Amino acid sequence: MKILRKKIFDMLMESQFWSPDQMLAFQRNQLAHLLRHAKKNVPFYKTRLDPVFMTNGEIDWNRWQEIPITKRRHLVEERDSMLATELPPGHGRTWEEFSSGSSGTPITTRHNILEGWVSEAVLHRAQRWHGMDWSRTSVSWRGDDGLLSNWPEGKEMGSWAPPWIAPGLRGNSYHVNRATSQENVIEYVLRKSAPYLASRPKLLQSLAFATERLKTPLNLDVVTTFGTGVTDDERDDIRRILGAKMFSLYSSGEGCKIAATCETGHHYHVNQELNYLEILDDKDRPCAIGQPGRVVITPIYNTAQPLIRYDQGDIAIRGPACSCGKRLPVLQEISGRVIHLFRFPDGQTIAPSLPNKEFVVNFGVKTWQLVQTGPLEVDLRYVTTDPDFIPNKAYAIEAIRSRLRPDLKVNFVALAETPLTAAGKFILYKSELANPN
Ligand SMILES: [Zn+2]
Repeated sequence: MKILRKKIFDMLMESQFWSPDQMLAFQRNQLAHLLRHAKKNVPFYKTRLDPVFMTNGEIDWNRWQEIPITKRRHLVEERDSMLATELPPGHGRTWEEFSSGSSGTPITTRHNILEGWVSEAVLHRAQRWHGMDWSRTSVSWRGDDGLLSNWPEGKEMGSWAPPWIAPGLRGNSYHVNRATSQENVIEYVLRKSAPYLASRPKLLQSLAFATERLKTPLNLDVVTTFGTGVTDDERDDIRRILGAKMFSLYSSGEGCKIAATCETGHHYHVNQELNYLEILDDKDRPCAIGQPGRVVITPIYNTAQPLIRYDQGDIAIRGPACSCGKRLPVLQEISGRVIHLFRFPDGQTIAPSLPNKEFVVNFGVKTWQLVQTGPLEVDLRYVTTDPDFIPNKAYAIEAIRSRLRPDLKVNFVALAETPLTAAGKFILYKSELANPN
């Protein structure tokens, strides 16, 4: 399998220079397989794809935009009918990906090994753009699982290098979970002598503040962010304080590695070999360069649970062609999910994090939001339509105090609907103090 994975990587190093026509032909060829497979083996798509299927079985690409948009709620409500009853040969074993409540409700999606390999290869390609050295050590600060990768041990993940790299040149990678405090992440990175650190932008921003407060500089060469786009203030703080280069991956658990930043600036190149991306306006028409629109993706290789024209829930803006030579289309800006930092009277600033999956199970509520309402006070707002429902408040208080701060006062507020911002965004961790960011 190493050989196949090397071949995928080599192809990506060439296809990044393909002309737009050449890329479109490649995408359509792959998408045709996906559409035929979905129509045949995935009940959810049995009739949804009818607009593009001609009577002779060929695909009419001019009618692509008539395929209805798949929404996040489908992943919750139609989950069973979205799973393939059969996989194409060679697509291999499957696994489940849990995605936390970035739009209000947690979801689980199924993925397959071929998708995993192409996904791994686009990440390695982007690491190559940014001159990262696979023989060095990388630390990730991620994951909500409170049982795995706890500080101080963390978890050794094997090498992060591509599988075809010779054994002596394969650097180690380690994980510590999101519950790890900034102080302990700093200790861990220093102990592992890691020049590379990866996490969500908001966590890295809070880490940067902590290194400043504790006067403990980290010798990081490259900081990798994943998830949604990085805001200007996050980027500025991370760069200014940590003094590292930044490489940002735009990705989601249910979707794929959608895009990665170019080494020449803050803009992103779309991973077109993995994903057919559309930026659409309010009337579902393609946006022009510079015009903000909704991100709609079609991961090309997910045959276990195809997401055809899936609304990612983010807003992005296409940018002009890049001068770096790569011809992958450009996203100049991505604005997506929001997490506010919580700030406390003694100067402590944290990116709050609860173990979402575990929390949903134990607290007993799928949709919840944690809001800082006072210097040492938070609201746990949760959505329920049943007036007699009683959540496990003792568990929630214990979880919040042990993960955030032991001196927090926790109030419980039942809501009938998911609280969204005026722009329709859900903020899982929100601060109602002035200037949360
Ligand atoms: Zn570029």
